[in-house]
Amino acid sequence: MTVPINRERLAATFTELCEISSPSRKEGAIAAYLKKALAELGADSIHEDDSATRTGSESGNLIARFAGNQPDREGLFFSCHMDVVEPAMGVQVVRKGDIFTSKGETVLGGDDKTGIAAVLELLAMLNENNTPHPKIEVVITTCEEIGLLGAKNLDYKRLETPYGYALDSTGINHVVIGAPAANKIMIEVKGLAAHAGLCPEAGINALALAASALTNIRLGRLDDESTCNFGIIQGGMATNIVPEKITLKGEVRSHSKEKLSHYTEEIFATFQKTVNDWQGGPATGDHRPSVAISIVDDYPPLSLTEDAPVVKRIKKAAGDCGKDLRYIVAGGGSDANIFNGFGLPTAIIATGMSKVHTVDEQLDLSDLVSLTELLHALALT
Ligand SMILES: [Zn+2]
Repeated sequence: MTVPINRERLAATFTELCEISSPSRKEGAIAAYLKKALAELGADSIHEDDSATRTGSESGNLIARFAGNQPDREGLFFSCHMDVVEPAMGVQVVRKGDIFTSKGETVLGGDDKTGIAAVLELLAMLNENNTPHPKIEVVITTCEEIGLLGAKNLDYKRLETPYGYALDSTGINHVVIGAPAANKIMIEVKGLAAHAGLCPEAGINALALAASALTNIRLGRLDDESTCNFGIIQGGMATNIVPEKITLKGEVRSHSKEKLSHYTEEIFATFQKTVNDWQGGPATGDHRPSVAISIVDDYPPLSLTEDAPVVKRIKKAAGDCGKDLRYIVAGGGSDANIFNGFGLPTAIIATGMSKVHTVDEQLDLSDLVSLTELLHALALT
């Protein structure tokens, strides 16, 4: 059975949220709006953490608690992020029937304002109907789009509920229960500069070494759980100078921690071998090329089993409100990876957003209504 949703209020909230500009680090206005909205919805506490000092955002993450009146029932949290990707200033929402878009010069911001709108509508419904419910916490992070910075700096001790749901995936009617871990890799190959026309023999071409190493690395899909990409290459000064320094930036992702470290080590070993195998002539003297690699553990994997309480609850809720959900493994990393890494099982729910991170982004109000029905069932299950 589904509850009737106030479609027009939901549409109005979504529009209002989208039209508050909130690119990453400029979340001050939306955070102020959310604090006020959460207070009006009867939050028992609203906490802004101190992450802004580390993320550089205008706001910290927000954690709101709605204590409910069913202390014996297991609580849950919903998480969303308040920042959006650029171009994001001056969003004007256009509605045609049930379809929302931007005017075409900015993103719409449905990533992740769909999630926020649905949570606010859920809380409004529970509030106005005096619906008995367990403890609900709402976590709204900053700077998700620029490296999950808010989530990485969240004060997790503040959360009292044992598990939750991140409302942050494109499409509708699916739940992400697996996502890979990722390492960010930066490699610096150092050679030796020389005039490329007058004395090329005296140079060590860092670009040639980097290119040679790169051709010996497997890129793309490495196996059914892992991928690798190098996406940025920088260096060189002029066509008549043997390039001295080349920097490469890439990433490895895998659902398996073992494979992640194996592939990362393989990359390092390949670059090291290329440099070690280099043979110069008399003009380079004692000079040898070198390589330095830095690896940043970007985010841990998200891996939930079918019998985890967080998965069982949503299966039951979906049954209660007559929805047929798919449980999928995805290839991206999001706040939910970080929450899981901190020991808080978190599944990701699709919110109906589509063509995100483009100016053609869209939302169908019917999908947002469907999401809100599911959240209502989750809170009551
Ligand atoms: Zn998102």
